Amino acid sequence: MNTLTPKKYTDMYYSSCCLSSIATQYAIWLILILPTTSGLGHANSSVTSFECNVEKCSSAPREHIQYILKDTVFRNGVTEKLRNVVQIPSEMVDPTPNPVPDPRVQPEHHFWDPFRKLHQQLATDFPRVFSRLNVEIINEFSLLMTWEGSDRNLKPLMFSSHMDVVPVNPETVGEWQHDPYSGDLTWDDELGDIIWGRGAFDDKHRMIAHLQALEYILTFEPDFVPKRSIILAIGCDEESGGVYGASFIAALLLSRYGENGLYAVIDEGFTGIKEIEGVLAAMPGISEKGRMNFWCNLTVKGGHSSVPPKDSAINLVSTFVTEFEREQLLPIFSQINPAARLYQCIAENSVTLSNNLKRYFASAFNDSEANNHLLEHIISNNDLRTKYLFRSVKGVTTIHGGLKSNSLADFVAWSFSIRLAMEDTVDRTVKLVQQMLCTFARTHGIGLNIQGKQVLARTEKGILQVRYSAKNAAPISPNNAVWKMFAGTIKGLYEDCIFPIRLNGKHNLLVLPSVMTGGTDSVHYEKLTRNIYRYQPGFYTGRVVDNIHGPNEFIDVNTLIETVAFVYAYIHSVQD
Ligand SMILES: [Zn+2]
Repeated sequence: MNTLTPKKYTDMYYSSCCLSSIATQYAIWLILILPTTSGLGHANSSVTSFECNVEKCSSAPREHIQYILKDTVFRNGVTEKLRNVVQIPSEMVDPTPNPVPDPRVQPEHHFWDPFRKLHQQLATDFPRVFSRLNVEIINEFSLLMTWEGSDRNLKPLMFSSHMDVVPVNPETVGEWQHDPYSGDLTWDDELGDIIWGRGAFDDKHRMIAHLQALEYILTFEPDFVPKRSIILAIGCDEESGGVYGASFIAALLLSRYGENGLYAVIDEGFTGIKEIEGVLAAMPGISEKGRMNFWCNLTVKGGHSSVPPKDSAINLVSTFVTEFEREQLLPIFSQINPAARLYQCIAENSVTLSNNLKRYFASAFNDSEANNHLLEHIISNNDLRTKYLFRSVKGVTTIHGGLKSNSLADFVAWSFSIRLAMEDTVDRTVKLVQQMLCTFARTHGIGLNIQGKQVLARTEKGILQVRYSAKNAAPISPNNAVWKMFAGTIKGLYEDCIFPIRLNGKHNLLVLPSVMTGGTDSVHYEKLTRNIYRYQPGFYTGRVVDNIHGPNEFIDVNTLIETVAFVYAYIHSVQD
């Protein structure tokens, strides 16, 4: 399994890592922006086996799905349940306070009060789930619910969600059109009913949908007993990496079911159904991009602002930031990236794409000229979210320095982040970033320390200290019977039940593999199954997705209801 534990490098590597001139500092970026497809973690993976058109699966009782989708009383009930939990500000912070407090340090421990309230609210709103299923509290605040299946030979299916939310930024609270924890319900001409509030989308609507699907079955299908166990895992700190939540749940599940002991895990995704080049596509993530975060502390001599030293800390850091931000990393379209297969299938089924472009997509993996043409097409015709499926992205994320306007800063702390293209690896990128930092330090005559190891000795001018965390891309879920059942269920649900309501007629849906660009709790569940799908039901709307983690987060009730319908349908599919 991939790990967040920092990599170790030999002293030999350190001694040879520093290039000597400023010119080479820029050359390093030229190397870093060049993608590679050789020597990669996924070198043996190819996503070309994924079919463009999976077979439809429609085994869930149609009348129940119609009820879930259409009944107004049901719809209003679910809406209220989501509003109830949005009104509880279960904010997560970095670093997360330990749920099991040290009474000497945190005697009051009020931080977790909203989570206690949230548990009570869920128990009130889902009485059958809480009384009939095995509900366990994991490490104080995460929840694990198990509906035991009748056939112990079948591996359990698990839905993962999280109850915590990112904090509302006090600086931008005035930009919210509705109080962030109002759970206000309003009407939108494009989307219908919408619910406002932090967490309405990320991720409380999924938590509610999972619980509601089970509550529905327990209420309206009292004779139903799953053959395959159904598990709900609700983490308490996904927004801080799942250290106290999902990691504890994963450890318990591993001891209970063993490696590869689960049938599949369904976790958060970004995109609902989207029309691309005239084709309707659902795009579950079968992997997550790798990610790296670097934290840098630069300490140099300060001084009075009337006699500034030549290289103040802010001066030095600004040269670093300018260089770091100068180049975009190059895009790449290869058979290692599930999103490449997605676009190949879109091209194959599109009636709006030119024949030339269709040919380019079809031969992209063998013909470099065709590959260049189609990348140009993807990059110039899509939003950022799509473009970033095909490249590593980097950015300076924080910067702090200086205390007073008449003193030169002697200390600047800054951080930067790199999200890796599917073709890139932590090892390769760490080496390149280390070279860059080395050259920066040497050029400015300062020492360098990386992950507690001395690379260049501290000088009288100062020192740069760097630490980082790194995680390779998640393993790619295979094309197998589990995928086909999952994708076929989405296809059946939308083509047979939802498109006739939402789009007034029959339409074809492609369910295609993609990549999750953000992180999820499922990173902790990689040992439990190879079949991890990051999927968001509903129709993609930029207005909704763009507000996640920012002011004015909201969700449309249609997406909430379709998520309930999907969970209901999928639970029934996997019983066959
Ligand atoms: Zn989330």
